[in-house]
Amino acid sequence: MSVLIVGSTALDSIKTPKAENPRLLGGSASHAAVAASFFGPVNLVGVVGDDFPQRYIRLYERHGIDLEGLQVLPGKTFHWSGEYELNMNNRRTLKTELGVFETFTPTLPAAYQTTPFVLLANIAPALQHHVLDQMRRPRFVVADTMDLWLKVALQDLLKLVKRLDGFVLNDSEAQQLTGEDNVFRALKKIHRLGPRYVVIKQGSHGSILSGPHGLFLCPAYPLRQVVDPTGAGDSFVGGMMGYLAATKGPIDRHIRRAMTYGSVVASFCCEGFGLQRTTRVTRAQIDRRVKELERLTRF
Ligand code: AMP
Repeated sequence: MSVLIVGSTALDSIKTPKAENPRLLGGSASHAAVAASFFGPVNLVGVVGDDFPQRYIRLYERHGIDLEGLQVLPGKTFHWSGEYELNMNNRRTLKTELGVFETFTPTLPAAYQTTPFVLLANIAPALQHHVLDQMRRPRFVVADTMDLWLKVALQDLLKLVKRLDGFVLNDSEAQQLTGEDNVFRALKKIHRLGPRYVVIKQGSHGSILSGPHGLFLCPAYPLRQVVDPTGAGDSFVGGMMGYLAATKGPIDRHIRRAMTYGSVVASFCCEGFGLQRTTRVTRAQIDRRVKELERLTRF
């Protein structure tokens, strides 16, 4: 089955202590879509300006990502620039230029409206609502978010969370949302906002799922060197949704393995700038890392 992904489609300029790379392909939807594409068909919803390089369009196409829902408007593509500190865990946003995102209203092609799996990747909650409003009885809807929306669009976000099957956020956002610094108490409070599945991402420490059948502690793949973690969270949730969309039967039967696949795709994402490493990985390499994680965590 297909997964529909809406989010930012961006040009990212990224600076780490070791290198600097301008105008890479980025955005929450780009990372999530490439990650999901390893497992099955992806419908991408987003917007880019007329400055968006053709080679990035070709890159989406090489991954079999359907682009009927990608609008190209006159103007500039969303541009984000960020800088990492020495330990690579702390990131500072240097600039966010909205460009064509400022006036973007996603209109779904008719063929997208019945996509069974929906990932509302990080983007303004009003746009996430707008996409969900156009879907016809989706089977499983998950959203991701970021600290900015908790600050500037909390009411929209809380309304959205009520409509979700799953909500994915990182630990500092969970703390910001609930006022709880204990992750397990935070999970409980987030369930009360609506979703049956809540996933809290903890970067290099993995992630935690709370669902109808209790908790799952998902490991992170042990990387010796991180080149650029931009998009790791998006790759995680994209990989998870792509894997789930390719399975049959109840979500509960597959969600743990889906998270592990997401975690492995995120590990590849961290090994290169932007999408440079992820776009060169094969499904066989992903499967190998998943097996390795299984061996490392079985007891
Ligand atoms: P992550 O590292 O998983 O938090 O995701 C980083 C990605 O989020 C980058 O590729 C950015 O283009 C994108 N991004 C940064 N700020 C925003 C924003 N305000 N809205 C949507 N996407 C954003």
